[in-house]
Amino acid sequence: MQSTRGLRLGVVAVVLMVCTSSLQAVVTFEFTYFDPAGVGFNAPGSGDAFKFVLEDMASEIGGLLDHTATVKIGVAPSEFDATGFSAAGGATFVDADLPSSFGFFDGEVINRVVNGLPHPGTAGACGGVECDGAMVVDLGYSWSTDSSPEPTEIHFRSVMLHELTHILGYGSFIGTTGTGFNGTTPDVYTKFDSFVTTSGGSPLIDPSGTPLFSPGLFPSVLASGTAFSGPFSIAAGGVGLAASDPSHSDDPSDVMTPTSPTGFVNDTWSPKEVAVLMDLGYVFGTPLVGDLDGDGFVGITDLNIVLGEWNSLIPPGDPAADPSGDSFVGIEDLNVVLGNWNAGTLPPPGSAVPEPTSFVILIVGAITLRRCRT
Ligand SMILES: [Zn+2]
Repeated sequence: MQSTRGLRLGVVAVVLMVCTSSLQAVVTFEFTYFDPAGVGFNAPGSGDAFKFVLEDMASEIGGLLDHTATVKIGVAPSEFDATGFSAAGGATFVDADLPSSFGFFDGEVINRVVNGLPHPGTAGACGGVECDGAMVVDLGYSWSTDSSPEPTEIHFRSVMLHELTHILGYGSFIGTTGTGFNGTTPDVYTKFDSFVTTSGGSPLIDPSGTPLFSPGLFPSVLASGTAFSGPFSIAAGGVGLAASDPSHSDDPSDVMTPTSPTGFVNDTWSPKEVAVLMDLGYVFGTPLVGDLDGDGFVGITDLNIVLGEWNSLIPPGDPAADPSGDSFVGIEDLNVVLGNWNAGTLPPPGSAVPEPTSFVILIVGAITLRRCRT
């Protein structure tokens, strides 16, 4: 009864509370789904579950970043063959195939978020829709959209974090013989590539986009394992990259390991992964206390997360509903939300998502990762 009365008092307090919104930087992700009606992400029921997990993960990332920007992502028509990669994602590089200049390119997501630049317009388009990044998922695999995947299921939220991290710029254009996006010398490389070195710290590509090892040497250089040697990453203890795969981490406990998390959850960046993103220019804000859904604002959606799990044990309840961390959803958690009520900035109302009839799949050729296991 104690907790019920507390709940009532809390709800009254919500009604009486004065709106005192303060500015909080937030990055908003907008998705356009190119699956036909009734298929994949647009299938009733199952598609809604996939969309919810993807957009919830993106919202959480957006709340962590101390930038104000909107990132537009095109989700290509889903695959269903359950062979090859489970998903792929990357930023668009609208100027990567126009080699009027060479070297390291930021890509459109870093341009939006870190550099604060406006979208280039139709040049950066997926199927006629502006897009800063793109992804595709093979929905033919066995996916788990909840928090407890079966041993044979791939955890969807973990893979979505992996792909969104690629989209943020965690990825390389360095090919097996050292050439970049176009297969030329010199060539176009990612900002990420400007930090890729041998395990001993020697750069692989110079700022003019020229490989620093001969084509014959590159396979062994990559096979022996490279490193991401930005200053934050070095300070975090060093970041090793996977053998012959500089787009992924060599640490199997990282989100950015090349293999899919089958039967387990891996949906939180390690400190090393945060350090890589900081080297790419991202600034992480102080987490907004009480912002349980990570949308940059403490309000009714956060209150509903607590009320929806009221009196639950954590686990099995949603850990987000337990900001007090005492493994029980009760008055302490309610007070965390109410005590920070109206903090942050109200997210913009959802805008209508256009549904083009065709998707220019060529854009996948211009994303950071042309091949990716997860
Ligand atoms: Zn990957």
